[in-house]
Amino acid sequence: MNDNLVGTAGAFQFASVDLAGFQEADNEAVDRVLANTTLKLLMRRESQPIATCVGCGCDDYHACVDEASFQPCSWLRLDRESLRGVCSQCQQYVARWDNGDIQPTASSHK
Ligand SMILES: [Zn+2]
Ligand SMILES: [Zn+2]
Repeated sequence: MNDNLVGTAGAFQFASVDLAGFQEADNEAVDRVLANTTLKLLMRRESQPIATCVGCGCDDYHACVDEASFQPCSWLRLDRESLRGVCSQCQQYVARWDNGDIQPTASSHK
């Protein structure tokens, strides 16, 4: 991570110092470095989507805990596309989910 940032800054510096005749080629190189860095950051973010329970609103990072067993909830149903699910504390929602009563695009989405 830090090595990438240092490398990018170095490329910028090189481009500004060595302008004579090579400006276009250097800009292309810098663009390529920036595009690669941006792509990696985007891919890293996309690889960790946060799904939210349609029943209680808990998500991947804020699981609710069973008061009896002290076990964190898990997903009974999960739709990674719409980032919605039904957690193990909301079993009453499973039947509705399976029936299609819970629309992933309901209300808050756009
Ligand atoms: Zn829930
Ligand atoms: Zn939960």
